[in-house]
Amino acid sequence: MDKYDVIVVGAGISGLLAALTLSKHGKKVLVLEKTEHVGGNCNSYMVDGFQVDTGAHAITHLAVGPLKMLMDNYFDYMPVFEDYGNYHIRTENSFQKVPSNLKEFVTFDMLPKKDRIVLAQAITKALTLSTFGVNLSKQSAYDSLPNNLSNNTYDFVDAISHFLSGKSMKETSVHRMLTGSSFVRDSVTQEQFEIIVGSKETPQHTESILQSILRSNFHTSLGTRLTEVLELSPIKSSIPHAFASISRFAISNDTAKAQGYPRRGLKAVLNSVLHSLPDTVEIQTDSEVKRILTNEGKAIGVETDQAYYADIVVYTGFAKNLPDIIEDLPRSYVDELGGIVQTKSLTVWLGLDKKIDEFNYIGSEIWFKDTPYWAMPISNYDSSLAPKGKQLAGFVFVVDENRSEGSEIKKAYDAIYHALPSIEKHVEMQHEQITIPEKAAVTISGKFADIRTPIKNLYLAGTDTDNRSMGITRAAYSIIEMLGAFNEDGNLH
Ligand SMILES: Cc1cc2nc3c(=O)[nH]c(=O)nc-3n(C[C@H](O)[C@H](O)[C@H](O)COP(=O)(O)OP(=O)(O)OC[C@H]3O[C@@H](n4cnc5c(N)ncnc54)[C@H](O)[C@@H]3O)c2cc1C
Repeated sequence: MDKYDVIVVGAGISGLLAALTLSKHGKKVLVLEKTEHVGGNCNSYMVDGFQVDTGAHAITHLAVGPLKMLMDNYFDYMPVFEDYGNYHIRTENSFQKVPSNLKEFVTFDMLPKKDRIVLAQAITKALTLSTFGVNLSKQSAYDSLPNNLSNNTYDFVDAISHFLSGKSMKETSVHRMLTGSSFVRDSVTQEQFEIIVGSKETPQHTESILQSILRSNFHTSLGTRLTEVLELSPIKSSIPHAFASISRFAISNDTAKAQGYPRRGLKAVLNSVLHSLPDTVEIQTDSEVKRILTNEGKAIGVETDQAYYADIVVYTGFAKNLPDIIEDLPRSYVDELGGIVQTKSLTVWLGLDKKIDEFNYIGSEIWFKDTPYWAMPISNYDSSLAPKGKQLAGFVFVVDENRSEGSEIKKAYDAIYHALPSIEKHVEMQHEQITIPEKAAVTISGKFADIRTPIKNLYLAGTDTDNRSMGITRAAYSIIEMLGAFNEDGNLH
């Protein structure tokens, strides 16, 4: 029987990034995925001629973040990212860019002037506290606001909170609000990366697949801007890191500079990882890991319908579910994992028979009244995602788990057609997805799991092992931390 260096449980983006990075450090890796497809929440598929993603996605921190570090160091093929564009707010009577700096706040007339001044003061105060190292991850957005704001302003802050954490403004931390709106940026530089992971003997040569095969289409603008941001980034520039976030709020905070949407859809990110995998990685789908095998407190392999053996096991399913597949975990550890908070989201995809005026922009929009949504007309990034002359848009809602899925779906369609009355007659494809967007929601009380477990040589990776940033960026952070733990434990080189 084959013995592997590492078995990775789960072939979502975290599991595949784990397999890619570890294999490039010389490991022989087996990836076991319980469903028939790889990719987990990071994938795209066709519905009636439209290519939908698993949820609407904006990939964050592309300039100096962890995904960029992994791409630079381990990918052979790079996805090409389109500029994200802007976030907008839609109401019944208007459509405006979300304010991202002081100047825009002053003219943002969707909220009463008095409230805007108070909100700007609250953000400045939070940034100042964060600058001086005060931990704002346990302070709720609601508690940091004065209590005499208009209902409209509370609805606005509440809707943004829901899209950043899946929870209300009472459960969403100020830190989450600051990082989610890019006022405070997480970053990993090459130097920091090498301290964590240790330098590889032969740095990976990276090239853009589109640069090599579709030269005339190569998208330079985001690349140029990334360089610009990198040069201005807090760690590399002479501006002290601490004050960069305040100056960003006071002067400019262009999220498009650091965020992107992958050309050819979300599966382009997945495909870049898959194409970069060396032959030493084996993937098996339809293989649910039902048990992690241990011997004297040490992981030795896993069991699906058969047993597989390895020196190390990396588990990237829900950390909460770990106690179901491994015996004898300490009670305190099981309780800790039980404290992980999850939320559910509903994405409604609408394929439209023509391009409509309301979606004549690049970026996304938020509707914050009654039933809030976050929507993206994604075929505006890449027209190949919809049949010629048609348009594709995704609308994301937070699901109320106390109500039935059917009533949540109905409520979602009602909200879409209330916000965009002209759209209904153009719908020729509709498709719904209910998913858990991140394995752990970032709330003021929610827990996260450690990369290391009480079982020797059993590691966790994925979005419930790191509370920084969002989704795929967070998955990338977790992989860097996992590599760091392997390195410290003498398991990497
Ligand atoms: C609606 C929505 C919107 C989102 N928006 C964004 C966004 O704007 N930006 C962003 O960066 N991210 C976003 N995300 C989140 C992002 O897609 C996910 O965080 C990321 O894809 C999670 O990757 P993962 O590998 O950690 O987990 P998953 O994708 O959940 O992968 C885990 C895999 O493990 C498998 N598995 C579990 N248990 C077992 C077992 N016992 N045996 C074998 N296999 C197992 C599962 O089948 C799955 O394939 C969004 C997600 C959704 C749904």
